[in-house]
Amino acid sequence: MRTLLRWEGHFTPADKAASDYVLLPFEVPPGIARLEVRYAFEGQGRPDSPNVIDLGLFDPRGADFLRAEGFRGWSGSARREAILTPRSATPGYLPGPIFPGRWHVILGLYRIAPQGCACRVIVQASEEEGELPHPPPPHGEGSIPPAVPAGNGEARWLRGDLQSHSHHSDAPGSLEDLIEAARRRGLDFLAVTEHNTVSHLPYLQAWSGPDLLLIPGEEVTTYYGHMNAWGISRWLDFRCRTAEQLRAVIDAAHAMGALVSINHPKTDGPPWEYPPDLPVDAVEAWQGPWPLRNRESLAFWDRLLRAGRRVTAVGGSDKHQDRPGEGTPFYQVGHPTTWVYAEARTTPAILSAIRSGQVVITADVDAPWLELTAERGDRVWMVGDEVPPGPIRIRCVVWEGEGLHLRLLTRLGELALIPVDRSPFEWAVELDLGAHGYIRAELRGMRHFADETPDDLPMVAMTNPIWGP
Ligand SMILES: [Zn+2]
Repeated sequence: MRTLLRWEGHFTPADKAASDYVLLPFEVPPGIARLEVRYAFEGQGRPDSPNVIDLGLFDPRGADFLRAEGFRGWSGSARREAILTPRSATPGYLPGPIFPGRWHVILGLYRIAPQGCACRVIVQASEEEGELPHPPPPHGEGSIPPAVPAGNGEARWLRGDLQSHSHHSDAPGSLEDLIEAARRRGLDFLAVTEHNTVSHLPYLQAWSGPDLLLIPGEEVTTYYGHMNAWGISRWLDFRCRTAEQLRAVIDAAHAMGALVSINHPKTDGPPWEYPPDLPVDAVEAWQGPWPLRNRESLAFWDRLLRAGRRVTAVGGSDKHQDRPGEGTPFYQVGHPTTWVYAEARTTPAILSAIRSGQVVITADVDAPWLELTAERGDRVWMVGDEVPPGPIRIRCVVWEGEGLHLRLLTRLGELALIPVDRSPFEWAVELDLGAHGYIRAELRGMRHFADETPDDLPMVAMTNPIWGP
């Protein structure tokens, strides 16, 4: 092995204040077939470390913000080393030619202690490819899963999960095990949304099947908030600090046909520190088990609705796949489950349904279910639709919800709170949605204490709104 870079430095809070990211250049000579990057910093690997420094890599094709054609991988602080060869790479990194020229190690200064943090980086290279660091994708270098026909072309409710992670970013378990768990749960689709990388995309293409659509995603993980992008065909830059920078990334996502979502906007989410008025398509109003502060995320979404924004609420388990035999049933793929009313089991059809707000979220794949419709004569509107002016019959049906509470909300607040005493349970009212702006439904859990408000009761299922004119 030849040493191409040996760097030692010390970062201070002032360095982080100046820039969250530091690029370390190094020259790669011709004929290299294996690159190994290793780094260390004070407190590395300790869960309580006051310092967290992230690692990534760019090749000579470029490292500039939004024009980084040379992106070759990101591992956050989850790994101490990255190995790249033409055929294979450490998960999180992209295999391919080890181009001669100027490469850059990128260090992300996520947290730096007041007294500063020492850091070391070493880059070594070899002309031999050597042992492969990871099995290559089964075939090809493709990035978009093939379209899977839904069957008869009629729309139907498909159930899935819009946020998950494997060892391609910071989860201990493999992508294979994550996908297998989604298949066992009977999901129709799973978005794999690795933090700041796309090394999983070729595997998704290979492992999508007629029973399970794998949606290519990236969780754009900035130090000021996380944003999912679904339906990506290539890497999205994440090196944002300002709203303008994030807006440029959102534009880049939309330009490739992807949708974006504000993720877990709640305490410890981590929260969303950007302005809420960025042109996002969705909000992850329910992430993982409901009691984990999801009422904050729901309130975030509700504030946008009341402000007149038509943005779709989605759910995501944010499952970080466990090693075999580890983990807890508390965190499961499909918990919660996001249902979309789509015409085909394809990424474009599912994204179109999310864009339209044809989405219901339930606690699990087999949890109680509810349906909200608006009717006039023989016309029926569903969640996501806009109804015409004038009185309209709002109807809500709950299945297997005995003992729970059905709650209807509009822009004006709570419209009704009704105990559900049978299955199916039906509730209807004549309403002019012009005055109410919108209507949406929640199915809330049982009341155990007399002083519990509806907001205190656990969410069992929730719809997106039907919009007023
Ligand atoms: Zn996140």
